[in-house]
Amino acid sequence: MRKIEHIGIAVKSLKQSIPLYEKLLNTHCYKTELVATENVATAFFKTGDNKIELLESTDAEGVVAKFIEKKGEGIHHIAFDVEDISAEMKRLQEEGFILLNTTPKKGADNKLVCFLHPKQTQGVLIELCQEIK
Ligand code: ZN
Repeated sequence: MRKIEHIGIAVKSLKQSIPLYEKLLNTHCYKTELVATENVATAFFKTGDNKIELLESTDAEGVVAKFIEKKGEGIHHIAFDVEDISAEMKRLQEEGFILLNTTPKKGADNKLVCFLHPKQTQGVLIELCQEIK
C-alpha cells in the first residue's frame, strides 16, 4: 500500500453536500460520476495531495443507503493506493483478510477496486485502488 488515495464519506444528498464541501475545502468539485454497479453517485474533491469522495446512494436498498440508515452520514471508507491490486489482494487474503470481491472491479475515478470486510479491520471499511492506465 503506497498512500491513502482518498477518504469516502457517505452523504444523503450530493446536491446539499457538494456546496458544503466546496465551501469547507475552498475548492470546486472536479468530478461527479455514477457507479451503476455500486448504486452510488460520487463527487470528488482535491485539496493538496488529498482526495475526498462523497457517496450518495442511488438505490434505497444500496450499501451506502444501508450504511447511513445504521450509522448516519459520515466517514464510510479509507482507500489505499496500490501498485498491483491483484498481488495486494492475494497477499491480504493469505494474511486472513476477507475480500468483498474476489476479482478487482471497476470503481469510480478510473480505478480498479477491491473492498475488505470491516469485520477484520476493526470496523473500518478498507478499499484498495489501482489506477487504470
Ligand atoms: Zn472510494
